Amino acid sequence: MKKIALLGATGSIGQSTIEVIKRHPEEFKVVLASAHSRTEELLNYGNEIPIDHFVITGENGVGISGHPGNIHKGEDALLSLLEEIDYDIMLNAVVGSAGLKYTVAGLKTGHNIALANKESLVMAGDIITELAKENHCKIIPVDSEHCAIMQCLESAKDKSHVRRIILTASGGPFSNLRLEAFKNITLQDALQHPTWAMGNKITIDSATMANKGLEVIEAHHLFNVYYDEIDVLIHPQSVIHSMVEYIDGSIISQLSFPDMKLPIQYALSYPDRFDATAQYTDLAKIHELTFYKPNFEKFPLLGMAFEVGKNGGIIPTIFNAANEAAVTLFLQEKIHFIDIPDIVEKELSVPNIYNPDLETIIEKDKEIKEKIYTNY
Ligand code: NDP
Ligand code: MG
Repeated sequence: MKKIALLGATGSIGQSTIEVIKRHPEEFKVVLASAHSRTEELLNYGNEIPIDHFVITGENGVGISGHPGNIHKGEDALLSLLEEIDYDIMLNAVVGSAGLKYTVAGLKTGHNIALANKESLVMAGDIITELAKENHCKIIPVDSEHCAIMQCLESAKDKSHVRRIILTASGGPFSNLRLEAFKNITLQDALQHPTWAMGNKITIDSATMANKGLEVIEAHHLFNVYYDEIDVLIHPQSVIHSMVEYIDGSIISQLSFPDMKLPIQYALSYPDRFDATAQYTDLAKIHELTFYKPNFEKFPLLGMAFEVGKNGGIIPTIFNAANEAAVTLFLQEKIHFIDIPDIVEKELSVPNIYNPDLETIIEKDKEIKEKIYTNY
C-alpha cells in the first residue's frame, strides 16, 4: 500500500487522482489532501475514501473552524505536515509557481514526487533535479507527454542511442485559425480545448502553446537532453502522447485515449502497473492519426520557451511568472488573448542571473507578477 500526499486535490488532476485511488483502494491510501479555496469539495472526499489529514492553504480555511477531524489551515501547516507525517510519494497537482515550495519540501525530506506541477521544474529545474539526486528521490512526471517519454526511453540501452525527443501537442483550439483572427479571440473561445478537460490556467496555456513551451523546459530537466534534441509536433488527436527517436531511425511512441487518469496512475504505481482506471484504447475507433509542424508565428510563446530554456539562469523563472500573470489577467478579461505573448516578451530583455538560489527565484517570481498586475 502506497501512502500518498495529494496536493491540489480539488483541481482537475486532483479529481482524476481521487478516481484512480478509488479504483485501487488496496494499492493506494491518501494520508494528506490539500486544497486552496474549495473547502467543501476537499472535505467531501473524506466521504468517498479514507483521508488522514486535510489542509486548506488559502483564506477560505478560516471559515471551517469547529469541523471535526484532522483539518489544518495555511501554507505553513502544510509544509510542517510534509515534514512530520509518514508518506511514500507526493503528488503535486498545485497550479502555478505556488507549487514550487512543496516540491522542494517533499524532496528535502527524501520523498518521491509524482509531479504535475511543471512550473516547479521550469522555475527551478537545476535546483530540483540536484535535490532529487542528493536525497535519492525520483521525480516521476504526471504530464502525459513526459509520462510517454519516460516509457519510450525504457528502450534506451544507452543515452547516446537517443537521437531526439518528439513532444506531441494537440495544437489547442486555434491551430486552424488564421493569425489575423487572433485579435478577436474571446475568453470563452480560449477555454474550449479540443481534446483535454483541464484547469483554466493550463487550458489557456494550451491555447497560446505556452504549455508546450513549459513542457520543452520540463523535458530538458527531466531527461537531461539539450534543447536542440527536442522537437514539437502537432498531433490533433492527442492519442500519441510523445515519442523518442533513436539513432537507428526507430521511433518509439506511447498511445492511449487522452485521459489524465492513465499518466496519474502510472506515476503512482511506477514501476509497477495496475488495471486501467481510464478506458482501454480502441484504435479502430480513432481512424486516423495526423501530424504537422507547429506555427511559431501564431504561437510565439513556443519559440520563446526554447530561447528562454537555452538562456537558463533566472530567465525561465521570469518567463513562467510573466506568463502566469498574463494568463490571470486574461482570465479576468483585463487583457486580450494576443496581449499574453507581448506581456511575457517585454519582461525577458533583462540581465540574467546565473545559478539563482531558491530565495532569488521565489523573490523574482513575486516581483514580476506584482509589476505586471500593477501595470494592468
Ligand atoms: P486546477 O486549477 O484545476 O487545480 C489547481 C489545484 O491547486 C486546486 O486544487 C487548487 O485549490 C490548488 N491551488 C491553487 N492555488 C494554490 C495555491 N496558491 N497554493 C496551494 N494550492 C493551490 O489545475 P490543474 O489540475 O489543471 O493543474 C494542476 C497542475 O498540473 C498544473 O501545474 C498543470 O500545469 C499540471 N497539469 C495539468 C494537466 C491537466 O490535465 N489538468 C495535465 C498536465 C499537467 P482550489 O481549487 O481549492 O482553490
Ligand atoms: Mg502535457
